[in-house]
Amino acid sequence: IERTFSIIKPNAVAKNAIGAIYARFETAGLKIVAAKMVQLTREQAEGFYAEHLGKPFFDGLVGFMTSGPVMVQALEGEEAVRRHREIMGATNPDNALAGTLRADYADSLTENAVHGSDSTESAAREIAYFFTESEIC
Ligand code: ATP
Ligand code: MG
Repeated sequence: IERTFSIIKPNAVAKNAIGAIYARFETAGLKIVAAKMVQLTREQAEGFYAEHLGKPFFDGLVGFMTSGPVMVQALEGEEAVRRHREIMGATNPDNALAGTLRADYADSLTENAVHGSDSTESAAREIAYFFTESEIC
């Protein structure tokens, strides 16, 4: 069994889509094993996206991610990383397949509704960035 890390980004929270997105996770066989709503600080967002520091979209991304509350969660299931990325759809919503979360909830490449870990190594790091062991059920 594998874990992945998910963020429902500020634009999707603002659309009242948390419940609909949780239903997609659960229908896909992904179990929510930790969750909380947070208003990210600039430092938290910059640290989370450190791999993108210096890229032209970095400041816009940090600005967007701190523009309102996000929901962060750890998801567990078979092949959770791959399965979660499949239901999210492509990073750029123009390329996201119909029925994926980004096709349905993204507004732009930056405001693309959801984040999901890209590997089990990233998942472990990202889960630990937001949750202590005792917060994961
Ligand atoms: P995520 O990490 O959010 O699940 P990803 O792994 O598909 O998505 P990354 O390349 O890690 O995409 O980029 C992280 C986030 O930065 C993207 O989800 C998007 O919000 C934003 N982003 C990435 N590339 C661009 C770009 N060229 N222009 C604007 N924003 C971008
Ligand atoms: Mg990524």
